[in-house]
Amino acid sequence: MNTINTSIVTPNGTVYEGDVHMISVHATAGDMGILPNHIPVVAPLKISAVKLKHEGTEEYVAVSGGFIEVRRGSTVTIITEAAEKKEDIDVERAQRAKEAAQEKLSGLNEKTAAYAEAEKELQRAENRLQVASL
Ligand code: ATP
Repeated sequence: MNTINTSIVTPNGTVYEGDVHMISVHATAGDMGILPNHIPVVAPLKISAVKLKHEGTEEYVAVSGGFIEVRRGSTVTIITEAAEKKEDIDVERAQRAKEAAQEKLSGLNEKTAAYAEAEKELQRAENRLQVASL
């Protein structure tokens, strides 16, 4: 089999389902490239871009962290709190979310949980803006 059956799932449903030639992800421990027949693995992901390579074309999906699971038989599932295909990203909304998170951060103490949460909001917004620009 020279493709990988790939799904990206969220609590709101499946964002991506398809057969791809290669997947590139940013795991918390480092970047990973997955080809067909990759060994089974589970790894946590950064708030980052997932690249799905076909023959001659590429697709990008923004993911808000989560996990990648590679199973025997070239099957990959990414499970994450939120994911958006590049073409579905609302750039103005992400820009507004970025500015709102920056505004929040400027008024918060760095040691608080609220600061950590606002940092995540900022990362999600910046990731969406970056993926939309690819
Ligand atoms: P916002 O403040 O704009 O709601 P957020 O980071 O708080 O952003 P999430 O909680 O991560 O949003 O996601 C909530 C839902 O909205 C998810 O289904 C996510 O896919 C979707 N979503 C969030 N931002 C965008 C965007 N810029 N474009 C498209 N969908 C988005």
